[in-house]
Amino acid sequence: MSRSCDIIIAGGGMIGASLACALEGLGLDVVVVEAAPAPDSALPAAALDERTTALAPVTQRILQTLHLWPPLASEAEPIRHIHVSRRGGAGATRLDAARDNLPALGYVVSNRVLGEALSRRLSDCEGVEVLHQTRVCELAHLDAGVRVTLETDEGRRTLQGRLLVAADGAASKCRRLLGIGASRHDYGHSALVTNLALRQPHGGLAYERFTPDGPMALLPMTGGRAALVLTLPQPEVDHWLACSDEALVAEVDRRLGGRLGEIEAVGARQSWPLSLVRASRLTADHGVVVGNAAHTLHPVAGQGFNLGMRDVAVLAETIATTSALESGNWLDAYTRLRQADHQRLVSFSHGLVQLFGRHSPVPAPLLDAGLLGLDLCGPGKRGFARAAMGLGPGLPRLARGLPLHKGTMS
Ligand SMILES: Cc1cc2nc3c(=O)[nH]c(=O)nc-3n(C[C@H](O)[C@H](O)[C@H](O)COP(=O)(O)OP(=O)(O)OC[C@H]3O[C@@H](n4cnc5c(N)ncnc54)[C@H](O)[C@@H]3O)c2cc1C
Repeated sequence: MSRSCDIIIAGGGMIGASLACALEGLGLDVVVVEAAPAPDSALPAAALDERTTALAPVTQRILQTLHLWPPLASEAEPIRHIHVSRRGGAGATRLDAARDNLPALGYVVSNRVLGEALSRRLSDCEGVEVLHQTRVCELAHLDAGVRVTLETDEGRRTLQGRLLVAADGAASKCRRLLGIGASRHDYGHSALVTNLALRQPHGGLAYERFTPDGPMALLPMTGGRAALVLTLPQPEVDHWLACSDEALVAEVDRRLGGRLGEIEAVGARQSWPLSLVRASRLTADHGVVVGNAAHTLHPVAGQGFNLGMRDVAVLAETIATTSALESGNWLDAYTRLRQADHQRLVSFSHGLVQLFGRHSPVPAPLLDAGLLGLDLCGPGKRGFARAAMGLGPGLPRLARGLPLHKGTMS
């Protein structure tokens, strides 16, 4: 017999899982369908080999409101300063948390720690069921919702819901099943990601360094580590994936002009091909796309997860404030609330890649003057920092520290 629920969340990655936590307390029956097996909590911490995410302050606030921050706090490294520069250029922009009276410009946390916190919290969430090793593979529209076919090792079964949320990543099958198209721009670049153990303290300093080959970011981590994200054309990524630790260290040193001091060890290296994916719409009949399924960004500004968390906060609030699931009108309202933020972040991240890339329309001396000018212009710099931190008018309740409950008024 087909099980029925209120909301089906397809994809229990960092965004789908966060949405399920955000819906707790709204009196809804929520089922999260996740293709991957349940995480093995007995896995040892891989100190130098883990991927990280830079959390904007607004994301940190949302996590705090969802009671997810306490287990993360001691494992999250505050970003206290950001240094933005161009290799070979004279100009640089420096952002400083203390100067703007902020505790931090952001926080760097490992995806392992974030994933563990989410999965522990999910297991305590009232009204949320998580189905692991289960994929959504078919969809049928009903008068008052959808029926999805689930594929498991034991065979197929169906699940009915009043709303399907597609949180199943960049290659979202559910986006397609909902009839929502997507545009895709391949950057022809991949991100090489690894962590470095530093001898001298990093002081909470993050670097964003632009080179004609692609940007490089270095983020401070707990335990004197730093996360390196090097975006390069694929053949070069293949080269740096295969080279010795010594050669990689020498390259990082060269790119940062020796600013890091001695690098004692290099963690395992991984790479991700990079593309910009944008859903043509955010909603369909009884369906919404969120997170990477709605927008997959270049990681240059570290904003993909942060943007997805604002999807989560706005979607949960829209569902709480309206008798949302009863009518279709709220879907347009959700689109209106999210469009500008999506457009801004796509333009910001894609624009940075184009502006500082090999075929930049702006001559190098002008770019340097721009970075220097931004550094000297207090209001301009504050505006830039606020955009990167996700701050702005009209923040959703969860980002203002206000919990949601059934019938919440904003
Ligand atoms: C190198 C790199 C660095 C980054 N750094 C940052 C950063 O510093 N800050 C930041 O904000 N963002 C960053 N990002 C972006 C961030 O990682 C993503 O935006 C975020 O992880 C997206 O999460 P998601 O849950 O939407 O998608 P995903 O993580 O792709 O999760 C989708 C989930 O859906 C499941 N799934 C897929 N198909 C099905 C199906 N048919 N049925 C059921 N389940 C399914 C998958 O198993 C998966 O768990 C970075 C990205 C990269 C590549």
